[in-house]
Amino acid sequence: MSKQIKTYALHNYLTIPQMESLSEEMKKDIEIVGRVLPFKTNNYVVDELINWDDVEHDPIFTLNFPRMGMLEKKHYLAVEKLLDQQAEKEVIDRKVREIRLALNPNPAGQEHNVPYLGEIKLKGIQHKYPETVLFFPSQGQTCHAFCTFCFRWPQFSGMSELKFAMKEADLLLKYLRVHKEVTDILFTGGDPMVMNAATLQAYIRPLLTPEFSHIHSIRIGTKSLAYWPYRYLTDADSDDIISLFEEVVAAGKNLSVQAHFNHPRELSTDAVKQAIKRILSTGAQIRTQSPLLRNINDKPELWAEMWRKQVDLGCIPYYMFIARDTGAKHYFELPLDRCWQIFRRAYRQVSGLCRTVRGPSMSDNAGKIQVLGVQEVRGEKIFVLRFIQGRNPKWVDVPFFAEYNPKATWFDQLKPAFGDERFFFEEQLLKLKVAKPFLFE
Ligand code: SF4
Repeated sequence: MSKQIKTYALHNYLTIPQMESLSEEMKKDIEIVGRVLPFKTNNYVVDELINWDDVEHDPIFTLNFPRMGMLEKKHYLAVEKLLDQQAEKEVIDRKVREIRLALNPNPAGQEHNVPYLGEIKLKGIQHKYPETVLFFPSQGQTCHAFCTFCFRWPQFSGMSELKFAMKEADLLLKYLRVHKEVTDILFTGGDPMVMNAATLQAYIRPLLTPEFSHIHSIRIGTKSLAYWPYRYLTDADSDDIISLFEEVVAAGKNLSVQAHFNHPRELSTDAVKQAIKRILSTGAQIRTQSPLLRNINDKPELWAEMWRKQVDLGCIPYYMFIARDTGAKHYFELPLDRCWQIFRRAYRQVSGLCRTVRGPSMSDNAGKIQVLGVQEVRGEKIFVLRFIQGRNPKWVDVPFFAEYNPKATWFDQLKPAFGDERFFFEEQLLKLKVAKPFLFE
C-alpha cells in the first residue's frame, strides 16, 4: 500500500536513485520556480506514475514538479537573484507575491460568481449558471498536487484574500433553500476528496433530505482517482466514503465524480482500475475532464487513447478544456486552431461511446465557449464558436463568429468577424455588476 506524504521537500519523498535522475539544473529550477508555483506530490505519483528513466521528458513529472519554463524569464531571474544574494525572507516573499499577482490568479471573473444571502457574501459559493452551484468546503481547499496550470492556485498558495472557501454548511443550505432553480451542486476545491469521510458526510447528508428534492445531482470534482486512488481502497475511511456514495444513490440523487485525468498513464495502474470499479459499484458515475496541455497531452493519439481507456473502465468522457489564462499558461498553452485540430483528430478516431466528450472549451467570464471549428465564409477566415454554458442561458448554443487569429490562445484575444464591433452578448455582459448574472434580461 502506498502512503501519502505531505511534505514539500524534494529529498523527503524521492529515493536516492530518483534524486540522482534529476540533473543539477532541474533541482535548481524546482527550487526557484517552486517559490512562486508551489508543488506537492505523493509516493503513488512518484513511484507508480513517473517514468524515472526519462524524467526529463516525463509528462507526469512535469505535471507534479516545477520546470524552468513555467516562469517567464524575467520572473525566474528575479527570484534566482534574490536567492543567490541570500535575501531576507520578507524580501523574497514580497517578490514572490508580486509575481503571483502578475499571473492572473483569479481568471474568468470568478469573483463575480460569488453570491449574497441577504447582506452576507458567501465566499465559499460560486453561482454562475442558474442550475449549478459550486461549493468550496474550506477543509477541501488543498489538493493531491498543485498543478501549475490550475486556475484555482490561490486556493493553496497562501493568497488568502483571493481564496474561495467556507466552512458553514448552514449557509449553503440556507442559500439552496431559497434557490429552487438549482438542480446541481458541485463540491470543488482544491479537492473535496482530501476531506475525511465524516466531514464530507456532514456536508452531503442534509442534501439528501426531502426539503432539498430540487437538488437532483451531487458532483464531486477531484484529482484523487489519478493521484491517490487509495482514497477509495485502503485509506482508513475508504469504506465510509463508499458507503456515503451508496447512500447518495439510494436517496435517488445522481452522484457524479468529475475525475481529472491528464494523461493515459494515470489510468494504467491496478489501483486506479480497482478504485474506478469500487466507485461505479455504488451506482455513482464517473465523468472525466482535462485541459489540453502543451508538453503533456498535445497529441490526438493520447486523447483518443485516454477516452477509449476511460470508456473501457466504465467512465464517461466529458470535457476537453483549453488551458486557462492563469499561472504557467505560457508553458502549457496552444493556439486555439491547434486545440481544435487536436480535438477533431482525436474525436474522429473513437467510437460514438467516447463522443460524449465536449470541447475544446474555454471557461471564460461570459461562459463556456467551445471552438466548433475554423471556416471560410465569403473569403473571410473565421472561428466558429458557441456557448456550452452562458451567464445568460439564452446565449447557449447560438453559433457566433470571430476573426481567425492563428496566434490566439484565449477568447480575449479574438475580435468579432465580419467587421462587427462587438460579440452578440457583450452588451449584456457589460451590465453585469452583481453575482446573479443569470437574472438580467
Ligand atoms: S484543483 Fe485540479 S488542477 Fe487544480 S491543483 Fe488540484 S488537481 Fe490540479
